[in-house]
Amino acid sequence: MSRPSRAAVHRSGARELDLTVVEVADPAPGTVLVRMGASGVCGSDRHVLDGDWTLPSPTVMGHEGAGTVEAIGDGVTDVGVGDHVILSWFYPCRRCTACLSGRSYVCMGSRSEECVLPDGSSPLTLDGERVFPYLTVGSMSEYAVVPEAGAILIPREVPFDVASLIGCSIATGFGAVVNDAGVEAGTSAVVVGAGGVGLSIIMALQLVGANPIIAVDLSEEKLEAARALGATHTLTPSADLAERIAAITQGGAAYAFEAIGRVQTIESLPSLIAGGGKAVIVGLPPEDSPVSIDALALAESGKSLIGSNYGSTVPGRDFPRLAALYLAGRLPVDQLISHRIGLDDVNEAFAAMRRGERARSVIIF
Ligand SMILES: [Zn+2]
Ligand SMILES: [Zn+2]
Repeated sequence: MSRPSRAAVHRSGARELDLTVVEVADPAPGTVLVRMGASGVCGSDRHVLDGDWTLPSPTVMGHEGAGTVEAIGDGVTDVGVGDHVILSWFYPCRRCTACLSGRSYVCMGSRSEECVLPDGSSPLTLDGERVFPYLTVGSMSEYAVVPEAGAILIPREVPFDVASLIGCSIATGFGAVVNDAGVEAGTSAVVVGAGGVGLSIIMALQLVGANPIIAVDLSEEKLEAARALGATHTLTPSADLAERIAAITQGGAAYAFEAIGRVQTIESLPSLIAGGGKAVIVGLPPEDSPVSIDALALAESGKSLIGSNYGSTVPGRDFPRLAALYLAGRLPVDQLISHRIGLDDVNEAFAAMRRGERARSVIIF
């Protein structure tokens, strides 16, 4: 059995998504059928549309989603029908050494990046043709079938638009600050790029008590959002950016986060931190984008340059924690949502993103 589902489908080479109807299969053993409540429109989706990353095709796009469990396959025990869940775009296998040692963010058994379920199948078809759910989520669709390990139970009080962002940009930003950088209260931090992930980083920096918090972006609209979320200083990029940051931080920030995924800004990141500081790559560049680093200067000044993917999130631990922080009023995720749109408006949302506009658009189903 299967059900029709209106969805946004990408075919390789196309920069626009087709709004069409796919068929979603019933949940196989160990999988969960979710009726989508909301899906974020994320920069990672845009990378796929712009041909920066190679993927199986055709693909139902969207990887940050939240919704209601509609049906469960045999053997599923973590969630039941009617539960509210956040989808994770990196489902753990729960069996490899990384998973067993609590580091499921470097799981070696997940097939998320192949956009398939653990058995290699896809639950989606379009006119009989196999379609892949992006990162085994495919949240730009009324329905999705995901592995049990990729559907995390959250309290019903969390609205779906907020929950969908917890599933990607919030987890990525919070995790970069808390799990990867380990930012301490009273230390300085600079965030380059104030889009969805950059603003999530700023929100987390504010929560852990970083000070000062310096946001850098070209867009005055985004810098205003950064100030509202706790940035103490906002700067537009310039040739003397490192000197301006050094002046604010007495010699360089303790932490710097790159949230764009641009080679030139990643290369400049170590120049923004003081000796002993940590520079964290959070934004993901296109494939085959080597960066050039002055290794001698990095080593001599004891600086660290680290990569952060999905904030080293352990979804079952971190999503409920982030949902609780939101419900306690300590993580104003709502403020990140600049536009609530329908599925049909998704191409316009990507166009706005390419123009450097909008903090975050969220599709409401
Ligand atoms: Zn995302
Ligand atoms: Zn694993």
